[in-house]
Amino acid sequence: MKRALHELGRGLLDVLWPPRCLVCEGDAWDGALPGLCGRCGDRLVRIVHPCPRCGREAGAFAAVAPCPRCRDEPTDLDGVVAPLRYLDGARALVLALKFHGRTPAARPLGLLLADAVASAGVPGDVLVPVPLSARRRRARGHNQADELAREVARATGLARDEHALARARDTRPQSGLSRAQRARNPRGAFRARRDHVEGRCVLLVDDVITSGATASACARALRRAGAARVVLVAACRA
Ligand SMILES: [Zn+2]
Ligand SMILES: [Zn+2]
Repeated sequence: MKRALHELGRGLLDVLWPPRCLVCEGDAWDGALPGLCGRCGDRLVRIVHPCPRCGREAGAFAAVAPCPRCRDEPTDLDGVVAPLRYLDGARALVLALKFHGRTPAARPLGLLLADAVASAGVPGDVLVPVPLSARRRRARGHNQADELAREVARATGLARDEHALARARDTRPQSGLSRAQRARNPRGAFRARRDHVEGRCVLLVDDVITSGATASACARALRRAGAARVVLVAACRA
């Protein structure tokens, strides 16, 4: 009932106030993805043949894991699922979601992510968002990874658990650090709760994968707490 009312309200709002594209601010009536016009939706750069291990576009190497790029990069993840390259429209959506409190941007990204999770066929018991520090969470008012996890949960029916993983300490933002600093910065920064993850296949949710160092630190914490598998699912791969 509540949901039906919500949908009705949304329908009325669409008539009174036609939706604008989150990327170009043009008319978004014709888009296949919620919140995007057809043009901007089509222009998102999709990863068509992902390497199952690092999530990068791997072309003919996609069937052979690890691909040449990730062969030299040891990871604590059991796999990576990421539907989009972090370019243009995808970047605009992520920045809107992260910094402008425009949580509607979570819908198209979350739907694409849910599709990618389904087509990758990875086993998953629970969606766990990469946590922000309490300070950053307060400043931003929301955690973009959790907003995405909500949308993926809604589209797939998978459970979401935002309390399974927490920051044990604050870290410096990864942007602006050297490669070596990026690798060191998040080490030991996370704690996972054994009663939430033991024996479970965790789908770790984030917005963008850059170096993968943050996700690796999360995966180590989850594994220490007994998680059986950790696959990173992120909207975009840089
Ligand atoms: Zn547009
Ligand atoms: Zn790879």
